[in-house]
Amino acid sequence: MTQHFDFLAIGGGSGGIASANRAAKLGKKAAVIEAKYVGGTCVNVGCVPKKAMWYAGQIADAIKYGEDYGFDTQVQQLDWQRLVDNRNAYISRIHASYQRGFDNNGVTIINGFAKFVDAKTVEVNGEKITADHIVIATGGRPAVPSLPGAEYGITSDGFFELTEQPKKVAVVGAGYIAVELAGVFHALGTDTHLVIRKDKPLREFDTLLTDTLVECIEADGPKLHTHSTPSEITKDSAGKLTLKFESGEQISDLDEVVWAIGRAPATDTINIEKTGIKLDERGFIPTDEFQNTAVAGIYAVGDNTGRAALTPVAVAAGRRLCERLFNGKTNLKLDYDNIATVVFSHPPIGTVGLTEAQARAQYGDEVKIYQSQFTALYQAMTKHRQPTRMKLVCVGKEEKIVGIHSIGFGSDELLQGFAVALKMGATKADFDDTVAIHPTSAEEFVTM
Ligand code: FAD
Ligand code: NDP
Repeated sequence: MTQHFDFLAIGGGSGGIASANRAAKLGKKAAVIEAKYVGGTCVNVGCVPKKAMWYAGQIADAIKYGEDYGFDTQVQQLDWQRLVDNRNAYISRIHASYQRGFDNNGVTIINGFAKFVDAKTVEVNGEKITADHIVIATGGRPAVPSLPGAEYGITSDGFFELTEQPKKVAVVGAGYIAVELAGVFHALGTDTHLVIRKDKPLREFDTLLTDTLVECIEADGPKLHTHSTPSEITKDSAGKLTLKFESGEQISDLDEVVWAIGRAPATDTINIEKTGIKLDERGFIPTDEFQNTAVAGIYAVGDNTGRAALTPVAVAAGRRLCERLFNGKTNLKLDYDNIATVVFSHPPIGTVGLTEAQARAQYGDEVKIYQSQFTALYQAMTKHRQPTRMKLVCVGKEEKIVGIHSIGFGSDELLQGFAVALKMGATKADFDDTVAIHPTSAEEFVTM
């Protein structure tokens, strides 16, 4: 017998779970089809295990600073397996909590890989399921380049499968994942090489952030290889890898090469053509501002739409979609402007709004920049120091704040509140009018 739902999410990641739970809370019969693990990329092979590894790196850093705080810190080794076991146990607890949420809300979970039969029907495990509303929330997967020996490399998925710490690695790529994973490996003591094909990583970010990050990487590691385009990986009889570049240079004796060169949307094997939806040239699902696809009753949220590939974006888009469909909020949609984001680099980056270059291109001479540079108190009394740098991008006579950028200790946690202020249209005078919290790094934004 064909099962029928009011609302069906294909993909049990950030977007699928959030939307199905919201639909069910609004009284609809909702289901999620998930091919692998509930929680999707973020919970299983993304944000959550990444952040746990980043915290491990932070602890390694703190141990180094500990000496100058008077601690006798002689740490002999890291038990990587124990770290992974505890990380995985935490993820199991998240799975259990999701299940409790589904049970409470009455969401049906179907394990299997869904393919479209037509615009109202999918097939999973040989059974047909129909729904009035279907959201495609299939996310993406890591890209691997097509070059000889590329298969010897791993991706971020493989990073989370490592059961022992590699001694020497090359991380190839210049985006969030490359910077974050290279930072983690390096902080934990692996001989780490960050390989980028251009002049610097995170090129789309404000130059204050990227230049400072490069300065920190050059001072502290990992080893940065710029203008290095991989051409081949070879493997010797002992299993060691050599990463060769078009320039003729190479890095040898590697335990792992990690490809972190972007992610491709998981839209190619779901028979989407049966619905009448046409993918764009990169495989993303075109959607309008309300997450509608070109076909009535089918929507898409999250990474497979090619917009900001972040968990809270997928969640927010999915929830708003269901509020619009099932709660009479007919104009509700996600505002994709001014989405705050953090790169868990060493040191971390927090950024929201326009970069200085974007603001100047848009507003010309109306732009005014406020900038600050200092050493966070945490690192001010230690031999090893890292800079903190902050920038406010303001526009017009009223100095409306259109960009907030920070790199340095604590930048990850300080940004969220400032992002609210920017979203509300705060001006420099509003910031100046706010009494500082002392001593913090965040106070610099209200005392510039
Ligand atoms: P996903 O979470 O990828 O979920 C899609 C799900 O659909 C998957 O579980 C998949 O198995 C399933 N699926 C696919 N096809 C089918 C099918 N045909 N049938 C059934 N199921 C199917 N974002 C942040 O905001 N902060 C971070 O710190 C952060 N760190 C990250 C670190 C890494 C290493 C990676 C890879 C990503 C990170 N992200 C981070 C991005 C974040 O994980 C994604 O933006 C988010 O998971 C997207 O959610 P989604 O619902 O679109 O897709
Ligand atoms: P990104 O798209 O962010 O970055 C990949 C970069 O790798 C490209 O911008 C490009 O930079 C470089 N690149 C592309 N192709 C090649 C190639 N063939 N060889 C060498 N380098 C190449 O992808 P990621 O995989 O890092 O992350 C995917 C997304 O996941 C992110 O954009 C982000 O939205 C999300 N994410 C969010 C995190 C967070 O919130 N903290 C953490 C991790 C991921 P260039 O052109 O400069 O060479």
